[in-house]
Amino acid sequence: KVNIQKCDQYLNVDAGTLNPGEHGECFVTRDGAETDLDLGHYERFLDIELTQSSSLMTGRVMRKVIEAERSGKYLGKTVQLIPHVTDAIQEEIEACSKGFDVHIVEVGGTVGDYEGLHFIEAIRELSHKIGREKCIFVHVVYVPYLGTSKEFKSKPAQNAVKDLRNLGIVPDILLARSELRAPDNIKSKLALFSGVPERGIALLPNASSIYQVPLTFEKEGILSYICERLQLPRRPLRHSLWKEMVKRTGVTYEKTISVGVVAKYLNNQDTYLSVFEALRSAAMWQEVNLHLEWVDAEKLDARSSSANKLLSDFDGIVVPGGFGKRGIEGKIKAARYCLDEKVPYLGLCLGMQVALIAAARRAGLSKANSVEFDPDSPHPVIHTMSDQKGKENTGGTMRLGEYPCLLPAGSMARELYGKASVMERHRHRYEANNAYRDKYESWGLRASGLSPDGQLVEIIETLEKHPFMVASQFHPEFLSRPNRPHSLFAGFIAACKHQQNKLA
Ligand code: GLN
Repeated sequence: KVNIQKCDQYLNVDAGTLNPGEHGECFVTRDGAETDLDLGHYERFLDIELTQSSSLMTGRVMRKVIEAERSGKYLGKTVQLIPHVTDAIQEEIEACSKGFDVHIVEVGGTVGDYEGLHFIEAIRELSHKIGREKCIFVHVVYVPYLGTSKEFKSKPAQNAVKDLRNLGIVPDILLARSELRAPDNIKSKLALFSGVPERGIALLPNASSIYQVPLTFEKEGILSYICERLQLPRRPLRHSLWKEMVKRTGVTYEKTISVGVVAKYLNNQDTYLSVFEALRSAAMWQEVNLHLEWVDAEKLDARSSSANKLLSDFDGIVVPGGFGKRGIEGKIKAARYCLDEKVPYLGLCLGMQVALIAAARRAGLSKANSVEFDPDSPHPVIHTMSDQKGKENTGGTMRLGEYPCLLPAGSMARELYGKASVMERHRHRYEANNAYRDKYESWGLRASGLSPDGQLVEIIETLEKHPFMVASQFHPEFLSRPNRPHSLFAGFIAACKHQQNKLA
């Protein structure tokens, strides 16, 4: 049993307030923690569900220490980075590792970062506490290639190891990252100055898919070495499905489907990382190439008459999550286009809200909106949850984490999932307004996912015949896996495929 935890240097308490355009996606765990997107990678690689304890940000630790100081826990002592903050970090790491055979801790940043010293010191102390033989330090070093002299340079790695030793940590394993594959003799060089045996060094050239990396580890023989060092039995790997998946990432299929993602944070590839991963996974298991294209929601809004033109090249449209007014009319337009033109549409969180707004407007409520974008809308089809009224600006009013959702018989959602109830993760402030629920039918919609008490609309889909118009208030992308695409994404890609056949 393996658990994993990320130590982040930021003074933020969580990733909830970080700008996704700058920092990438905010990943949400089952228990509602707003975390760094690395936790998404962890979940996809390990195929487990993590919790808050796996995301340790400096701000969170500091807050804990300061709160303890304020409540007099330190009995009048001076409170210091060492031992108080470093002890608090060790407590968090030990708590997170309880019940697992192996616990992986990633310390973010670079050795020598002023901001990361407390984490390095904490793991150094911890290794002595739990027993040095029960702990391995894995150091990721960089081996650059100099094109002019055609050689790989081990010097930066050498310096990095020296820096780490200065902080009291001797690495047990070196992972040497490089653009191209370095020649094997670089290992002996690295071994010589680092003291790490060659068997403990793995060369990691850029891979065509990140999912290839575990297979490279295997090839490099590092897995046996890890098992030996941690005195774990070396069992045969059960990774045939993973291997098959990696193979698929390299295949070019006959067919390509083209999906437009209508969004506003266009400057950062990582903003919708889990959404893209889910789409890619669904496409490769259905043996089609995926062409993903951003559509700037603001542009879609500005060119009033040309929405159809901008979107008509796509086999399907995704409107992912988002906050704030900017670009919202463009997203509503995209949903309307998919409703009218019967183009596959997958709405994720905000994507469900805009689909509801589009359907209401189409049915004649021209000023229908979410109170997030128009607080005075005469038809607030999306509104603040009643238990949150009055707390809108106080923070901490979001519905976060996993909630159950029931799927009525006969719905497309039920058919896609193949079961009557699912758990899915949320991150939003607003909800569908129940005052309009009895209108859905006349808007051509049905609520096909509801909270167990029937009070919250979790999924909507069309009643009228449509290839795929399914949108969820939750974020299904967080549960998709590279080797097991999420049902809603799989359904969407299948519909896009079908759409293309129809047009061809
Ligand atoms: N802004 C919307 C809300 O708060 C949607 C949030 C999202 O897409 N994650 O409800």
